[in-house]
Amino acid sequence: MNITSAEFVTSATKPSQYPPAKFPEIAFAGRSNVGKSSLINTLANRRRLVKTGSTPGRTQLINFFDINNTVTFVDLPGYGYARVPAAVRRKWGPMIETYLSGRRTLKGVVVIMDIRRMPREEEFNLITWLEHYAIDRLFVLTKADKLSKTKQNKQRAAVAGSLMMDSSDLILFSAKSRKGREEVWRAIELLIAK
Ligand code: GDP
Repeated sequence: MNITSAEFVTSATKPSQYPPAKFPEIAFAGRSNVGKSSLINTLANRRRLVKTGSTPGRTQLINFFDINNTVTFVDLPGYGYARVPAAVRRKWGPMIETYLSGRRTLKGVVVIMDIRRMPREEEFNLITWLEHYAIDRLFVLTKADKLSKTKQNKQRAAVAGSLMMDSSDLILFSAKSRKGREEVWRAIELLIAK
């Protein structure tokens, strides 16, 4: 995808604050610190469209970005961050489920996992929701550059096994080397075209 524009649109916690549903939407979900912001920035060819490496705040927001006036990227708040107050954590589920279940223009969710970590309860819950709402999903393993090629393939197979998926359905990505950027875009374009 040739990026001509990438802009922040708005933040929201509830549907009345969502922007008008103009374009097909792709949402990004993952554990805090997984590399979600870096993935979005790499896809958008922008250094700081989304702020990276920041401590998750007390308010967790759904952020909307307009890419090329053709697709909306939706940055869902990261989950699994221990230091987020319990009250904020309790709101995560309903906020995300409301978005996932109600957004008509949502074309798919990119489920982001660190290649070095096995999926845990939060990932399984998210995937169950997506299946329940019949939302298409893409699986991206980030920080591939942290492992040798051999270990990348080993981990990819292990994660695939744990999710009962095919290894080839997990895209290996690195924001550092930009490995996998084109593959993720191609998969996103397929979701949008559906
Ligand atoms: P988020 O909390 O999921 O949005 O994660 P960020 O994108 O802010 O990244 C968290 C940390 O991991 C930052 O220090 C990033 O520089 C680092 N990081 C993200 N992606 C990669 C990657 O592909 N490779 C490496 N080596 N580090 C990464």
